Amino acid sequence: MLDTLEKQPILEVRELRKSYGKVKAVDGISFSVREGSCFGILGPNGAGKTTAIEVIETIHKPDSGQILYRGRAVERGFKERIGIQFQDTSLQEFLTVRETLGLFSRLYPDPRPMDEIIAACSLEEFIDRDNRKLSGGQRQRMLLGIALVNDPDLLFLDEPTTGLDPHARRNFWKLIEGIKARGKTVILTTHYMDEAEYLCDEVIVMDHGRIIESGKPRELLLKHFGEAVIRLPGAAIPAGTSFSCPSEAAEGFVALRCDDVDASLRELVAKGVELGGISVERRNLDDLFLKLTGYGLE
Ligand code: ATP
Repeated sequence: MLDTLEKQPILEVRELRKSYGKVKAVDGISFSVREGSCFGILGPNGAGKTTAIEVIETIHKPDSGQILYRGRAVERGFKERIGIQFQDTSLQEFLTVRETLGLFSRLYPDPRPMDEIIAACSLEEFIDRDNRKLSGGQRQRMLLGIALVNDPDLLFLDEPTTGLDPHARRNFWKLIEGIKARGKTVILTTHYMDEAEYLCDEVIVMDHGRIIESGKPRELLLKHFGEAVIRLPGAAIPAGTSFSCPSEAAEGFVALRCDDVDASLRELVAKGVELGGISVERRNLDDLFLKLTGYGLE
């Protein structure tokens, strides 16, 4: 019943393929994106993320596959209706941020009012500065503003926070949350797993042009790692105690892989375990990324 009530996805990608010579940059990927969500495309360098989004944006032609926007095949002119923040953008020099935004606004028949864009991207403090004299974080905020000039429903952000300091990255996340709060849909590629965990409702993980995992970050972590690992000194456990969740002993410590931290802690107390030296560790998307793509030390 819920399924039938669910809205049509804003974007559907079916069996998309794109090769460069022998390199299968995108090798048959399919996914759909819910309206109003933030959708993350993750994967190591060369996995095919940028190729995938540039084909979806109609910048490159796919070899085969379908791209549906609100249920209809995308056609020429689609890239004028969406918002795109590229990894790298060359801008006209000797213009202020305000003039740069104005230049892009004039490309559209019905642009979003400039003051709304300035507020949405926090551009006030450097709006009259030369666009070459911005910090990395300020430049990304300006590029986000440019991507918003046509007030798009669907926004593509290709590694928007690469190279930013932690403070600037978090500021940028707030802006993306503000965009989502207006009901807009965001498709994001990123190498920062904390960013994906914070912002994305759903992610796909790509490697060698294919999707190797997909789902909600929290559900993926539960599926691959359980909720948490409880670690405690072996000496804290009365002799002969067994546990209801899987446990492993090594180097004087016992690790319990549990799916319900509350229930496990109650069980430990009931079994007379000394809780003084306990630690509870949660796995994150970094751990999942390393596990899935095999680029870790394991
Ligand atoms: P990164 O995280 O480093 O940006 P990515 O996941 O975005 O990587 P792509 O840039 O899509 O990966 O590249 C996928 C593969 O396609 C790589 O092997 C790359 O070398 C190749 N490729 C991409 N664009 C071209 C092109 N224009 N000509 C030839 N090969 C290309």
